[in-house]
Amino acid sequence: MAHPEILSWDDRLRSAGLRATAPRRAVLRLLASWARPATHAEVARALEPDAWDRATVYRNLCDLAEAGILTRSDMGDHVWRFELARAEEHGHESPSAHPHFVCTTCGEVSCLPDLALPVERVPVAVRTGKVEVRVHGVCDSCAA
Ligand SMILES: [Zn+2]
Ligand SMILES: [Zn+2]
Repeated sequence: MAHPEILSWDDRLRSAGLRATAPRRAVLRLLASWARPATHAEVARALEPDAWDRATVYRNLCDLAEAGILTRSDMGDHVWRFELARAEEHGHESPSAHPHFVCTTCGEVSCLPDLALPVERVPVAVRTGKVEVRVHGVCDSCAA
C-alpha cells in the first residue's frame, strides 16, 4: 500500500497536469522535509544517492515551479531557490507571500510565518501579494 503522503503528491502532480515520476516525487519529498527554499545545487547534492543527475533534477524543479507546485525565488544573490508552494498560497496569483530570512553571514535562507501587510494606501502589488519580503540578519547558528 502506498504511503498516504506519496499518494497526495501524486494527486497534486496529476491535478497540475504532470506525470508522477520518481524524480518528481523525490524532489517533493526532499523539499517537504527541508521546509525552506533550496538551490538546485543543494537539491542535486541531496538526491545524488538516488542517481538523478543534475540536469534531471533541474528540469524537474523547473517543471514543478511552472506547474505552481513549487515556487522559485531569487533572494538577492541571483540564485534560484525552490520551495513548496504553501497550501494557502497554492493556486493564488502570489506564490511568495510569506517573508524569508536571509543570513548575511552564511547565506542560509529560511521561511518566516506569513506577514499581515497593511492593505490601505499601499501599492496594488502589496494587496495582491505580488511582493517579496526579505529580512536580512544573522542566523542563530552564525550568532552562536
Ligand atoms: Zn548564518
Ligand atoms: Zn519560504
